[in-house]
Amino acid sequence: MNIDPQIQVQLLDIQGKDTEVAQLEYKRATLPAIEVKKELQSNFERARDQHIASEMILSDLQREALKAEGDVEVVRQRVAKDEEMLNSGVINDPKQLSNLQHELESLAKRQLDLEDVELEVMERVEGAKAAVQLLAQQKLDFSTQLESVSNELDSELAALAVDLADVQVERENLAAAIPAEFLALYERIRKGHQGMGAAKLHRGQCEGCRLTIPPQELNAIKAASPDAVIQCEECRCILVRTADSGI
Ligand SMILES: [Zn+2]
Repeated sequence: MNIDPQIQVQLLDIQGKDTEVAQLEYKRATLPAIEVKKELQSNFERARDQHIASEMILSDLQREALKAEGDVEVVRQRVAKDEEMLNSGVINDPKQLSNLQHELESLAKRQLDLEDVELEVMERVEGAKAAVQLLAQQKLDFSTQLESVSNELDSELAALAVDLADVQVERENLAAAIPAEFLALYERIRKGHQGMGAAKLHRGQCEGCRLTIPPQELNAIKAASPDAVIQCEECRCILVRTADSGI
């Protein structure tokens, strides 16, 4: 393939734009806010799940507290009934009276035990309420932070999209002046070689792979027509000759 040396030099500008695109795409994929957002998202989800679990625990405990309260109430009513009967004076039989007094004693003990249970459950309800509140606050905090990082990330991405579009337009404008066949060769090489399809021959060195061209090969390049399209033997880049190529 023979290509005007001027056009060959223009290919370097296209390579420059393609490298810029690759850098912007890399930047876009590795924005620190992406990781921060991911971490906040998982923190938020954990707090949300814990909050749901804490609400279930609270609701179980509230049911338990209602039951404990009910148990105490049953005993209280029984005591009231027995006391009423005792005070009404309708029971005269000493055995019956003694039985009733025994029952009242054991009911009093039972009431104390049940009140202890009720108190303990109420304390656990209070603890569970505090946990629900704490987790709700955590969930809210993470969600606020998540929203702010998401907005930050979105605006960074939008700015990068503008930069990328600009570079791509510049690249397309440059590419319009390059013969299709030559551009296709460049694209083919670039795909297989980490985005590098053209490099300057600078002081006997290929700027694509940074290797010094062996003297024999350099002599061959020197002898070639300025129109000839030359590729680096090492990295396959189209080697573009300029005034400081060292040949
Ligand atoms: Zn090379």
